[in-house]
Amino acid sequence: MKLNDPTLLHTETYIDGQWVGADGGEAFDVVNPADGAVVGSVPDLGVGETRRAIDSANRALPEWRALTAKKRASALKKWHTLLMENVEDIAQIMSLEMGKPIRESRGEAVFGSNFVEWFAEEGKRAYGEIIPTHDVSKRLLVVRQPIGVVGAITPWNFPLAMITRKVAPALAAGCTVVVKPAEDSPLTALAAADLADRAGLPAGVLNIITTSNPEPVGQEISTNPIIRKISFTGSTEVGKHLMANAAGTVKNVSLELGGNAPFIVFDDADMDAAVQGAIASKYRNSGQTCICANRIYVQAGIYDEFAKKFAEAVSSLKVGAAVDDATEIGPLVNQDALEKVETLVTDALEKGAGVLTGGKRHALGKTYYEVTVLTNVTSDMRVASEEIFGPVAPLYRFETEDEAIALANDTTYGLASYFYAGDLGRIWRVSEGLEYGMIGINTGLISTELHPFGGVKESGIGREGSHHGLSEFLETKYLCMGGI
Ligand code: ADP
Repeated sequence: MKLNDPTLLHTETYIDGQWVGADGGEAFDVVNPADGAVVGSVPDLGVGETRRAIDSANRALPEWRALTAKKRASALKKWHTLLMENVEDIAQIMSLEMGKPIRESRGEAVFGSNFVEWFAEEGKRAYGEIIPTHDVSKRLLVVRQPIGVVGAITPWNFPLAMITRKVAPALAAGCTVVVKPAEDSPLTALAAADLADRAGLPAGVLNIITTSNPEPVGQEISTNPIIRKISFTGSTEVGKHLMANAAGTVKNVSLELGGNAPFIVFDDADMDAAVQGAIASKYRNSGQTCICANRIYVQAGIYDEFAKKFAEAVSSLKVGAAVDDATEIGPLVNQDALEKVETLVTDALEKGAGVLTGGKRHALGKTYYEVTVLTNVTSDMRVASEEIFGPVAPLYRFETEDEAIALANDTTYGLASYFYAGDLGRIWRVSEGLEYGMIGINTGLISTELHPFGGVKESGIGREGSHHGLSEFLETKYLCMGGI
């Protein structure tokens, strides 16, 4: 790996302001999914080290939360500057460890940094309230205080942004954090922690637990009484497990879980814009985001034309190595991901779906899968109810607006949804009818640090980004002052 600053590639992890190994010296390799080459090696920590990291976050808490928001912002702004100065190195590390096409990795490095900048500012605006009183001898006030030590557990598909989206608001609010990054992408987390250290973050304020065995570490984070808040992004299954664990000590939880995003194209839509929007939503990160279009519903009258244009545009997407500048679709993150995609496509084909393009493993081998469009897909196929997490677009047909809304809502998930339409009345009706936390209207790209990101139903609880994202790390305290 060619880095401008090779010291950003760590073999030790960051706890209590120190770079350390596992107690017993255990380590695990991080592997490039494109060729199986070892990219790096990181400490394989267990419960003992996790407890110590939590203790160090607890020790750091009183001083950190007592700082003015402006002082905390000063450290966060320095961190942001350093992240931005190292975008290229962060992108290289990210692409090599989890296969994101390099152009998208650069985009994520900036996107991830944006959260740090935004929350550095927003931390200054954690305003309280003064409530008009019910009793002239009393005054009623509300103050907002940091929740305490936070446990953050993050996935591999956005190795930087999923960390900064939690850590930046937590730190801005005055909390301290223990982060457990995904085992597929710990190197980006360590590079980010190194830059936070260089920015002058005090020891213990941010700690990183690298492990190949998330179960016991997750158990500790979700049951240790010192942790007051769990912020998790990942599968619904693990999210439910953590939520159940958190109940034991009534921890506050924010969960950003799975999605099954519908993408609806109505007959009054701008067809070319819808094709481009569907590609942007479906194939970002090679189809591996929780807000990727998972079900594309097209109104019957325009179905054939849309399918033709979409398949044509999709078939020109360039599949290749993540670090190649021309690549639009990279390898999938690991063998399990490849097998899942393969199983879902086989199931759809057996139940009567057709293939417009792709449909099998890519000739490049390893974890590459062809960019695929399936036609005549129906609700009984597994692709309709499961997250595909790969470059496969299933096209469904519908007749009426009500039917489209009903089909779109026929899932336990409720994260992102999208639709393309022209009529203003329809835009309102459909926006109000979709049971989702986020809706892209005539756009396939919705994510920034500026808006509340999150889902309803089994897609989660809480919001990240925007002032809502800061509130997740603040407690509300009521002060009633008498004798006035
Ligand atoms: P994905 O399908 O995105 O890999 P996971 O929910 O398996 O989703 O992983 C998301 C994060 O949750 C990762 O950091 C992973 O290590 C962690 N994780 C997986 N299993 C557990 C568990 N039992 N307890 C805590 N964290 C877990």
